[in-house]
Amino acid sequence: MNTVALLFERLGALIHQSVRDDAARHGLQPIHVQVLAYLAQANHYSNLPIAIADYFGITRGTVSQTLALLERKGLVRKEADARHGRRIHLLLTDAGEAVLRDGWSRRIEEALSVLPARPQSLDTALRQLLASLQRLNGQHAFGVCRQCAHFLTEAGGARCGLTGEALEVEQTERICREWSDTRSPVSCGRAPDLARGSTMPVEQIGPAGNRARLRKPPFSALS
Ligand code: SF4
Repeated sequence: MNTVALLFERLGALIHQSVRDDAARHGLQPIHVQVLAYLAQANHYSNLPIAIADYFGITRGTVSQTLALLERKGLVRKEADARHGRRIHLLLTDAGEAVLRDGWSRRIEEALSVLPARPQSLDTALRQLLASLQRLNGQHAFGVCRQCAHFLTEAGGARCGLTGEALEVEQTERICREWSDTRSPVSCGRAPDLARGSTMPVEQIGPAGNRARLRKPPFSALS
């Protein structure tokens, strides 16, 4: 094993240990805390059971059991989608957010703060590594909306070039199941879950400032 792989193995083991400790403090299993952490950062296309299954590479049955427990404990609540009848969004309750407070991600921030300087290239390199590993595993890449190839900025605000829908600023800072980079306009080399709807041309002004004409139908029901 090369040095970089060893370092990631140690980092992964330490983080997993911290997640286990966090979970035990709240009478939960690690996957419960991980799902809460995921929902805290997922956008409204991704706070869905099917996206949780994709993100963690677990079965829908496991997701259902996990969500049932989190709901029973008052850590997660369900909210029907105003426009797509069958779609149910999963949101953290105040109690769910409290579980994440002072958790393992805070310790990562502490550890990073003692470094002499946190180079921007570290974030970029880690993001690229993550996307690459997710692709190798056949998973969606899940990236921050603002850094997506489909992200559009217009005079009136932000818009998703894939769905044509307007995006609230807060949503643009979250991660999305349909994220893709400029090199791969379709996430992880697979067609996204697009099954219906008319095409709509939109002009892309992506993060790299490149312009392209896109014709993509909107999302199908993702739940
Ligand atoms: S711009 Fe990309 S990341 Fe943002 S909502 Fe659309 S597909 Fe998802």
